[in-house]
Amino acid sequence: MSDLQSSDMPQRPGVVIAGASGRMGQMLIRLVLEEGGLRLVGALERPGHLWIGRDAGACVGAPEAGVPVTDDAVTAIAQAQAVIDFTAPEATLALAELTAQARAVHVIGTTGLDETHLAALKAAARHAPIIRAGNMSLGVNLLVGLTRRVAAALGEDWDIEVVEAHHRHKVDAPSGTALMLGEAAAEGRGATLADLRTPAREGITGARQAGSIGFSAIRGGDVVGEHDVIFAGAGERIVLRHLATDRAIFARGALRAALWGQDKGPGEYDMADVLGL
Ligand code: NAP
Repeated sequence: MSDLQSSDMPQRPGVVIAGASGRMGQMLIRLVLEEGGLRLVGALERPGHLWIGRDAGACVGAPEAGVPVTDDAVTAIAQAQAVIDFTAPEATLALAELTAQARAVHVIGTTGLDETHLAALKAAARHAPIIRAGNMSLGVNLLVGLTRRVAAALGEDWDIEVVEAHHRHKVDAPSGTALMLGEAAAEGRGATLADLRTPAREGITGARQAGSIGFSAIRGGDVVGEHDVIFAGAGERIVLRHLATDRAIFARGALRAALWGQDKGPGEYDMADVLGL
C-alpha cells in the first residue's frame, strides 16, 4: 500500500473508478493515487476480466494501492462517496441505480447516451447528485460558452458546422463534445439542437438548409480530441478551435467534479456548474 493510501484522512471522500482497464479508467486510477483529494476504495471491471483480484495500482503501472479490481459493484459502491464512470451507456445506467441507492456522487463521462438513457439518469438524479459532461476539460467548457455567444451575435446567414476528430477506437459519432457545442450554438440562436441539427451528409443532399447546424467526424490514429466550430459567412469565416493533447484534462475535470459534488444535493449538474462558468 502506498504512503498516500495508508495515511488516509477519514475526511477524504472514497471513490470508485468504473471501467478500470479502459483508457480513461487507467488514467483516473493513476491520478487518484497521485493526487491527494480522493481515496481509491474500488476499481470495477466486468466479471471474468483479467484484472479481477489484482491490485488496481499495480495494474495501471502505479504503486500498489491495496485495492483489488473487482466485479462486485454493489459492495464497492457501498463504501464510496463518489463513482467516476467513463464506460458505456449500459454500464452507466446500471451504475446510476447503485449510486442512487448509495447516495454517492456519480460523475459520468460516458458519451453516446440516448434519450432513454438520459431519462433513466434523470430519475436516478432524484436520489443523488449526477455530474455529467460530454467533455470534462476547462478549455472545452469555455469554448461552449464562446460558441453560444458567437452564435447569438451572428445572424442565420452565418452557417454553423462542427468538425471533430478522435482516435480510431472511438465508437460513437458525433462526439459528446461536438453535440455540446452544437447545443450551445442552437441555444445562442434561441432554439434547440433537435430543431436545427442536419443529418449526416452523403450523396445528393441538396443545398444547405439556412440556419441548420451540421456535424462532421474524422476518426484515426491516436487523436485525443479536436473540435472546430465554424461560422461561415459570405466572404469570411470564424473558427473556434479546441485541441486536446492529453486525456489527463478529462480525468482531472472528473476528479474535481467528484470533490465538488460532495456537498451537493440530488440533481443533475454539468461541468459549467463545477467550474463556476
Ligand atoms: P475504453 O478504453 O473503451 O474503456 C471503456 C471501459 O468501460 C472499459 O474498461 C470497458 O471494459 C468498460 N465497459 C464498457 N462497457 C461496459 C459494460 N457494459 N459493463 C462494464 N464495463 C464496461 O474507452 P475510453 O476511451 O476510456 O472512453 C470511455 C467513455 O468515456 C466513452 O464513452 C468516451 O467517449 C468517453 N470519454 C468522455 C470524456 C469526457 O470528458 N466526458 C473524455 C474521454 C472519453 P471492457 O474492456 O471489459 O469492455
